[in-house]
Amino acid sequence: MLSYRHSFHAGNHADVLKHTVQSLIIESLKEKEKPFLYLDTHAGAGRYKLSSEHAERTGEYLEGIGRIWQKDDLPAELEPYISAVKAYNHSGQLRYYPGSPLIARQLLREQDSLQLTELHPSDFPLLRSEFQKDSRARVERADGYTQLKSKLPPVSRRGLILIDPPYEIKTDYQAVVTGINEGYKRFATGTYALWYPVVMRQQIKRMLRELEETGIRRILQIELAVLPDSDRRGMTASGMIVINPPWKLEQQMDNVLPWLHKTLVPAGTGSTTLSWVVPE
Ligand code: SAM
Repeated sequence: MLSYRHSFHAGNHADVLKHTVQSLIIESLKEKEKPFLYLDTHAGAGRYKLSSEHAERTGEYLEGIGRIWQKDDLPAELEPYISAVKAYNHSGQLRYYPGSPLIARQLLREQDSLQLTELHPSDFPLLRSEFQKDSRARVERADGYTQLKSKLPPVSRRGLILIDPPYEIKTDYQAVVTGINEGYKRFATGTYALWYPVVMRQQIKRMLRELEETGIRRILQIELAVLPDSDRRGMTASGMIVINPPWKLEQQMDNVLPWLHKTLVPAGTGSTTLSWVVPE
């Protein structure tokens, strides 16, 4: 089943949280000259036109990136992310939203590399054409989970692995844990960033329990809820699970989460979470 299209959701509050965390991890990796790999298992189309029928139908970006990108009091932690968004919107109008591969392309250096996979028959060609002229990137139509076995460890022995499935099939909640465990066996020093939606809280509790049972340590949870948990609505919150986070990430997210919550959720509903699922 491949019915999920990220074009309906690009730039929403969940993307803001995900891409903030992604960009901060990339900036930390850049503090050393040595190259690193950016592996994106579920890369999407790359670029999303916000005036498209899909984006306009939901209008989700208006309550996400639309609320923050031109703020005067932008916290320093959002600078790399917002500069990447602005790089795709030179006119000063918010016309395009860069997905995770384009944010990485903007922030990575000449010596770094990108490995991107996407399965959807419509999104894959769009992604491939975005990277046609980028010699740092390899784009494949493949199952993202298989990459966690076949592409790790990277030659550079440094890397960020972003795992961002649509969770349209319930087995994704288990598949991510199995995939991370496979990747970690091969590359225990990599940084793994897993996105999750909160639709049913029980699914997330179970996923976290299974992650704990792998024995992996240094697992940080970062969550932004726009509404309280509920079993009646759709997604009420989203989060990032980061394994081996850069040492600064916890402090950076502690600084920026209250601002993000206040700005993205003017009604003040929901909450934020920053805690260790498994410490050192
Ligand atoms: N990471 C993207 C971003 O932040 O801009 C968004 C990705 S979207 C949430 C999930 C994507 O995974 C969809 O484009 C979907 O077609 C793709 N997908 C679904 N199952 C997949 C699989 N097994 N392997 C690779 N891609 C898959």
